Amino acid sequence: MNKKQSNKVIISGLGISGLITASLLCKEKIKIECFEPSDLSKFASDQRTTAFLNPAIAVFKEIGIWKKIEPLSQPLKEMEIVDIGHSKYGDGSSIVFEPKEISLENFGYNVPNNFLRSELLGWLKKKKNFTLHKGDSIVDHYAFDDYILVETAKGKKITGNLLVSCEGKDSAIRKREKIKTLKTSYNQLAMVFQVSHSKKHKDRTTEILDSGGPFTIIPLRTPLNQLRSTVVWLDNLDVINKAYSLKNTEFNSVISKKSMGIRGNIRLAGKRQKWPVSSQFSKTLTSKRIVLIAESAHVMPPTGAQGLNTSVEDIITLHNICKKALKNDEDLGADGVLKQYQIKRLTQTGSKVFGIHLLNKISMTENKFLKIARKSFLMYLNQSPFLKRTLIKVGLGK
Ligand SMILES: Cc1cc2nc3c(=O)[nH]c(=O)nc-3n(C[C@H](O)[C@H](O)[C@H](O)COP(=O)(O)OP(=O)(O)OC[C@H]3O[C@@H](n4cnc5c(N)ncnc54)[C@H](O)[C@@H]3O)c2cc1C
Repeated sequence: MNKKQSNKVIISGLGISGLITASLLCKEKIKIECFEPSDLSKFASDQRTTAFLNPAIAVFKEIGIWKKIEPLSQPLKEMEIVDIGHSKYGDGSSIVFEPKEISLENFGYNVPNNFLRSELLGWLKKKKNFTLHKGDSIVDHYAFDDYILVETAKGKKITGNLLVSCEGKDSAIRKREKIKTLKTSYNQLAMVFQVSHSKKHKDRTTEILDSGGPFTIIPLRTPLNQLRSTVVWLDNLDVINKAYSLKNTEFNSVISKKSMGIRGNIRLAGKRQKWPVSSQFSKTLTSKRIVLIAESAHVMPPTGAQGLNTSVEDIITLHNICKKALKNDEDLGADGVLKQYQIKRLTQTGSKVFGIHLLNKISMTENKFLKIARKSFLMYLNQSPFLKRTLIKVGLGK
């Protein structure tokens, strides 16, 4: 049998990571069948934007959708951290990271999630080798030596070479495979909302550190050049729940105080949304004819713009492995093919989850001594261009 002609990949879950995976694999002319139980129109209300680092932008260029996305994508040129955590130990200290320190033009782009989803889905729907099973989900699967069989909620039975779980953090495939996870929660929530402000953002992202978690203001690009940003505010459950229930006028005074006038007069411009914050790491990333990617494999707090960017690294790795297998006329779900994915991604994702876990712990700390240490570290970093460059490279996964 010519494996190249017969290869078929089944993707479960069409969040952003499922959409990117499907798009890249579709380019390889193999059959892609996707399952998404949710009503796709509900994603239009997602208020989040994603700070995509340069490797993700390269993927959008490879798929061929970057020209469509770029007009609403904000270049991220500077990253500022302001630490106001321990006022007795001097005033707030701040540090600015610039891409030119490591000879880059920018760190990446801030892209609205809802816009990106609709562009990716629109692109996929035009492809003959893409099938979308809307409102249907995989309820069981059976992996055999030559193929994998999935059964769906609507009673369909479909076979393929490889099943990719992009089902998010509660992946049913992972649970059926009895793959264990390490999990931590932080008694924290992330609130996301868009704001208008009177001062120009000058392409700068500002992260304000106090207690409870960072308050990050990420610039947005708008069609009419309005001064807009997205705010991601991580804090204790009680603080976020209280702020979430405030009337707009009261909420505006809270965010004015939190943002310390850094963007001038700041006002809520849209809805507020809350998201749970946790870390999770899957102990293995593959099983017979199955691969776990994105949040099915790793979840991290939304700090340092690593979550979806790590998922894009998973997808690039899977895509490269698949391309090589197709070139060698191999079966995409063969043990040997999937083993390469496991080797390349397990340690990488584990260390990323652990690193972001530590970063979150440090940024939410109430401990006086840790706050002093955090501030001293930032001050030291300001004096050490080498360490600063190293940290930028680590953040960008270089
Ligand atoms: C506030 C916030 C801000 C963030 N900002 C950034 C950022 O700036 N940069 C960054 O890199 N990351 C960021 N992240 C992380 C990023 O948003 C997530 O990593 C990403 O959304 C996860 O995408 P996913 O496709 O893996 O999962 P999901 O978006 O959860 O998608 C999973 C999909 O699978 C479907 N599904 C579920 N169960 C099944 C099933 N049984 N069968 C089939 N389908 C199923 C679901 O309906 C869903 O559509 C942020 C996260 C938050 C919360």
